[in-house]
Amino acid sequence: MKLIALQCVMVLSVLFVYDARAQHKSPFEKTNRIPEALSPINLSQVMPKGWLKTQLEENLRGFTGHLDSLVPELIIQDDIYGRDRLTRQVKSKDLGAVSEAGDWQVQFLWWNCETQSNWWDGYIRSAILARDTMHLIRIKGYIQSILATQDTDGYLGIYDKDLRYKFDTENGELWAKATLLRGLLAWYEYTGDAIVWNAVKRAVDNVIVNYPPGQSHPFHVNKPDAGGLTHGLVFTDVLESMYRLTGNHAYLDYCLFLYGDFSQQALNEDGQYDKLINPGVPLIGHGVHTYEQLRPLAAAYYASGNVQLKTAMDKFLQKIESTTNPSGAPAGDEFIGGRKADATTTGYEYCSVHELMDSYISLLVKTGNVSYGDKVERLFFNAAQGARHPSESAICYLKTDNSYYLTGGKNGDTSDRNQTRYRYSPVHKEAAVCCVPNAGRIGPYYIQHMWMQEDSALVAELLGPCELNTKWRGNTISIKEITEYPFEHKIRFEVSTEERMKFPLKIRKPAWAMDVKSSLPYILKDGYIVVDRTWNKTTKLTIEFMTEPIMRQAGQEEIYFTYGPLVLAHPIDAVETITRQYAVNTCKEMQYTPVSKTIYQYIPQPDQHIKKLRDNPMTFFTTMFNPDSWTSESIELVPMGQTILRQVTFQKHSRE
Ligand SMILES: [Zn+2]
Repeated sequence: MKLIALQCVMVLSVLFVYDARAQHKSPFEKTNRIPEALSPINLSQVMPKGWLKTQLEENLRGFTGHLDSLVPELIIQDDIYGRDRLTRQVKSKDLGAVSEAGDWQVQFLWWNCETQSNWWDGYIRSAILARDTMHLIRIKGYIQSILATQDTDGYLGIYDKDLRYKFDTENGELWAKATLLRGLLAWYEYTGDAIVWNAVKRAVDNVIVNYPPGQSHPFHVNKPDAGGLTHGLVFTDVLESMYRLTGNHAYLDYCLFLYGDFSQQALNEDGQYDKLINPGVPLIGHGVHTYEQLRPLAAAYYASGNVQLKTAMDKFLQKIESTTNPSGAPAGDEFIGGRKADATTTGYEYCSVHELMDSYISLLVKTGNVSYGDKVERLFFNAAQGARHPSESAICYLKTDNSYYLTGGKNGDTSDRNQTRYRYSPVHKEAAVCCVPNAGRIGPYYIQHMWMQEDSALVAELLGPCELNTKWRGNTISIKEITEYPFEHKIRFEVSTEERMKFPLKIRKPAWAMDVKSSLPYILKDGYIVVDRTWNKTTKLTIEFMTEPIMRQAGQEEIYFTYGPLVLAHPIDAVETITRQYAVNTCKEMQYTPVSKTIYQYIPQPDQHIKKLRDNPMTFFTTMFNPDSWTSESIELVPMGQTILRQVTFQKHSRE
């Protein structure tokens, strides 16, 4: 008995030692790299059509095509990558002023690189996708001038030789490069220009030489608040693109190194490994930082295959879920502050909407999991469209799902006279010119990821009107996607191949689709409609998703409605005040006050009726309780993306 007991103890202690070792294994160690499920298609092979094309063209006529004229002092007059690179002198001079006004303003030193490069990134992609010759010529000139700033050692960036790569304070070294190189890579995808490719490759090599993996600490800083430094983590976007273009795994290994170093430094950032795996630590940081950090973590997980990073990613996604509003937009106005989403009180920044959408696209590419496609569509069709002015070239920097006033402060709040973000502007210079550049990126990022490929299949991932023209497996293929989606649920595909070709065409089935009608035989597999056949000349395929308006729960006490991927809202009539007129293409700033202050309530009943207007399939009516007149009224609901002031959620009425 004793012997057996001793053996048991020995076995247990061996298990214990084994377990303890397993627990102490680094989450940043490589185990088995995981290949991505899908490959993005070259952006020049997808052409937007219908409303997507119209929107790109509107942006090109407005803030995306002309931001340099709207804020010349931030773009034209500050040659931050060239003549006006930051030096030790500039730094110390500006730090003097900054120390009185607070550390926050240290960021002004690098801000213009973000404004400029994020703007160019959206502008380049928009011009390519819209095939706009005039803008493409202008962009070509910019590409030549930015490449001319590259030093002989490959350095492309915003710091002079006395400063670069030698920081222990806030800096924008990697962030300036991440934003710039994303745009240059888009131009390379379109042109295939070897000069651009070599410039990007040399710039990335210059980073790797100066921040050698395993032997340097790019995220080391003497104060934990360092927004420019931590934005630089999304340099992984560039590295992942480089990997996809070259197949060189060293770029992915460098993603793992960056995320590991970021996680191990003292920084006030939500996306650090130790914070993510602790469910008791809520998201509190600057929203846009937090939501973009999902991408570097996902890149590190796929580069390493380390299950500990998978756990961190799953817990991160759960935390984000709790900050997500009905529109898909994540809390962050500017900070998240540990709050859960509330349709009236948690505002969201346009930058966060773009960055979270891009993070979900990254997860869609990696996993092929259709649920990320639903998340992308929810954000783009509702949050992004709903914070973009329906008829002018302007956006809200901050907005809430329930938007009762847009006069600067949140829903009419006037306690902070400097709060100007809750209104429409083509610039938002008083706050920061960060959101407007991202409003020019979000459409192109959606469009260029509408089609993706697997080894043996073409996949329609994000739905809407477009045309794919690609050379795939030695054959020229064109697929027209004719639809007004998401404003109709029928999509007519026209598949043309140069030669007879057998392959499966896969179409993402949205989660809300209760049933599918198809003009050709199909099977459903892993959330995809798979039409596997021999395609010859031109084949027509019509897919229709069947659904009804759905009432959904927002928290415990509120409900809202969706129809397909669209969140519905009651539009509130408003008085418009133009607060500034720009000389550029009728661009203006606008505020809105409501004509009526009624906030409708919902009386719980077993079957809440919502009626579709027959001649306008996107207008609905439902009955709600008016607490001002104490009567029930029939009110209109439309897609929230078409509204300015609106009520999205309805609180349950209690009759007491
Ligand atoms: Zn912003």
